[in-house]
Amino acid sequence: MAKTGSGEKGQPDYGWRFQGKIVRLCEDRSVQMDESSHLMERALRQMSMEYFALDRCLQCGICTEGCPHTKLETNARFSPRSFIQKARLGLLDLSGEDLWLCTQCGQCKLICPYEIPFLDVMISLRSLVVEQGAGYVPASIKGVLSSLSSAGNPWKEDQSQRGEWHADRDRSGNTSGRQDAVMLFVGCLPSYDKRAQKIARAAAELLQRAGVTFDILGEAEVCCGESALRAGDQGTFERLKAINTRNLAKGGAKRIYTLSPHCYDVMKNRYDGLETGGCQVYPFVILLHELISKGALPVRNGVHKRVAYHDPCLFSKHHSIITEPREVLRNIPGIELVEMEHSGEKSFCCGGGGGGVWRDTARGERLAEIRLEEALKTGADILATACPYCLAMLEESARGEERYQDLKVMDLCELLREGVFS
Ligand code: SF4
Ligand code: SF4
Repeated sequence: MAKTGSGEKGQPDYGWRFQGKIVRLCEDRSVQMDESSHLMERALRQMSMEYFALDRCLQCGICTEGCPHTKLETNARFSPRSFIQKARLGLLDLSGEDLWLCTQCGQCKLICPYEIPFLDVMISLRSLVVEQGAGYVPASIKGVLSSLSSAGNPWKEDQSQRGEWHADRDRSGNTSGRQDAVMLFVGCLPSYDKRAQKIARAAAELLQRAGVTFDILGEAEVCCGESALRAGDQGTFERLKAINTRNLAKGGAKRIYTLSPHCYDVMKNRYDGLETGGCQVYPFVILLHELISKGALPVRNGVHKRVAYHDPCLFSKHHSIITEPREVLRNIPGIELVEMEHSGEKSFCCGGGGGGVWRDTARGERLAEIRLEEALKTGADILATACPYCLAMLEESARGEERYQDLKVMDLCELLREGVFS
């Protein structure tokens, strides 16, 4: 490796500094630097495209205007605009919290006029810190990544218990040959968490009522790996992806439905082996919408409540899934659907994405609290969502607070179940 220094001729100085040393990128985008900066070399090799893209940023600040963190009264420092500026100048402090504040909601990417790939940069920087030890990783994130790596779920739960929520199912785990069979990819929270299991049970009951043949992988399912990927642990993500891809192929179903937008996003965008194997992945809410549209799920009971729908960022901002969840809710007689200040593509992040669900955030600093206030302003009885992370974040922030005691947080599957069965 050629050694470079600040006085060398013919080498542009892009202003990136690491541990006090100047890092240089050549015209051909390969990396040259001091030998002792080998960590940075690897990261910059991965990041060089993104780094050059950062150079296009005009520092207009539109991204910061849209970032949910700027709405927090306690936020005195986090801004995607200044984050990019610091990254360009090599002034980013990887030993601090800033890298972990971004929930990767996607709002900045959506509104940036210059298509700066902020989320890709964030994942690459986290990868530098997590995989190569070049900075600070919150203890809770470290713990989750270790559990994902060793046990396939965030809490080191027993893998054999993963399908216990659906204990009376047919345990064949194989839907081969059944043309109409679908696979329900349950995800970690609805598999193990007592509260989120209610989402899974409601989903299963709705499928049974609609006469849909379905299966789950049960103990053969592991975490989709989205948290690992967004936290920068590419190695763990690839291992989890390989296990799920292999076991989904064995299961034989060609249509996979995910209960979580997080599983959907990562399986749709990063599980390249699924499509090659002839499988298509969809969010579960799309199946509900289809079943309702063709009359397979008649809703007999009214739910006479005012409902505000919280769009999960991964649906609205990343995949433009905005109308279908609302149509599912409108189909339930008696529901008065109301919109909050931020809705649809401009939805307000609950704080759970990008590993945020695993971070400990003090009251007064939670994005979910801002969202609960928006729901209160509409006079809603129910704050509905379609994501286990959103549900956990919103419920956790509402718990024990008197002002939210009349606001119930529910998943869309639970609400529809009330309309179909109660
Ligand atoms: S990332 Fe985009 S929106 Fe943000 S300051 Fe740069 S150019 Fe403007
Ligand atoms: S992805 Fe969301 S939280 Fe992260 S910087 Fe962009 S707008 Fe802010």
